[in-house]
Amino acid sequence: MEIKFLGGASEVGRSGILLKDRKNILFDYGLKVNEKLEYPMPAGHVDAFVLSHAHLDHCGNSPALYHDGLPVAFGTSASLDIANLLIEDSIKINRQNKTKGHYGKKEAQLFSRSYMSHPYHSRIEYEDYAMTFYDAGHIPGSAVTKLESSRTDKNIVYTGDFKLEHQTLHAGAEIVKADTLIIESTYGAREHPDRESLIKLFISSIKEIMDNNGTALLPAFAVGRSQELLAMLHKNKLSGQTYMDGMSRKATDIALGHRDFVKNWNLLAEAVDNAVQIEDRQDRADVLREGGNIIITTAGMLNGGPVLDYITKLNKRSMIFLTGYQAEGTNGRKLLDEKPLDIDGKKIAIRTPFAFYDFSAHAGQEDLHNYVKGADPERVICVHGDGEASQEFKEWLELEGYDAYAPKVGESVSVDF
Ligand SMILES: [Zn+2]
Ligand SMILES: [Zn+2]
Repeated sequence: MEIKFLGGASEVGRSGILLKDRKNILFDYGLKVNEKLEYPMPAGHVDAFVLSHAHLDHCGNSPALYHDGLPVAFGTSASLDIANLLIEDSIKINRQNKTKGHYGKKEAQLFSRSYMSHPYHSRIEYEDYAMTFYDAGHIPGSAVTKLESSRTDKNIVYTGDFKLEHQTLHAGAEIVKADTLIIESTYGAREHPDRESLIKLFISSIKEIMDNNGTALLPAFAVGRSQELLAMLHKNKLSGQTYMDGMSRKATDIALGHRDFVKNWNLLAEAVDNAVQIEDRQDRADVLREGGNIIITTAGMLNGGPVLDYITKLNKRSMIFLTGYQAEGTNGRKLLDEKPLDIDGKKIAIRTPFAFYDFSAHAGQEDLHNYVKGADPERVICVHGDGEASQEFKEWLELEGYDAYAPKVGESVSVDF
């Protein structure tokens, strides 16, 4: 069987992994949000689509499959609800910018109607395959997928994005025994700092800003990071001074609607009750004038959304706290590199101090290695890694004696299945 990489190989973004077998099965079909939007390669005929989780780089282009086809889609219920929110937003943004996306409302509806939701650990029969989802510990609903061939008894395990270490709202990923393992490698060349000490530092730094009557601005992805930060702040008795803006609140409500996919559900529910939702521009101005508070808002990489409304208006006592991955070409990366940001076609230098806290929801280098050791596969395919990450991971795997690959977009790997 051949596995073709349509995107998200030797790069992060626009994930798309096509299994060309008796049936064509596609794992994920996302977008890459850079200076300009990038799409995965065309998928051709697809019989079945499997969604690992609802981040834009995995789900963002899935409705495009419904232009000329009607693949059956599989994933968790939380992933569908979150994907619908992000897809609706993409269509809106395209309309506002008068850009033509790869799909419209009709395709989005077809995607949604073709989607069959399954909980973790239920065995799904599809043609002569069986599929099972396991907890990936990344965001609400994120899944590791095991695909078995009933004809050969071989399996393929696709991790999607995962984290082994516990987060405030997620238990660590389940390790699944694999023949062929397709594994993300975002941090294939890097380790994360110790999470507990980082949280302490983060909280004390936020408190300092608030004591000084400044605003702590927390740009965050609507899905996953916003909920994690809110729960973290609540645990440290700061949710009462926290405001939420943009899509973060909607995504949080969806997460709360899926109790099975959130560890510490009560903590998140309490945090949401304590935090205040920003309704309009006037609210934004009031909150900034008031000071001594925290704002969680989209977009996490500063590439649009309400965060741009705040970032140019912060006073000298305020601070920006970046907590997530900042892709090349995004405003978030520009801020880290101390370059001016692109806001509404203008170059604007930001004078407000900023800090970066690595609260990544991805496995660090050692945990990537631990996952492979636990899954005990014959071959490993490293995807979802920028620059040297996938390559360095592959080299480690080879030294350990695994049959390892780090394909590029457009390349294929033949496997026993
Ligand atoms: Zn993700
Ligand atoms: Zn991803």
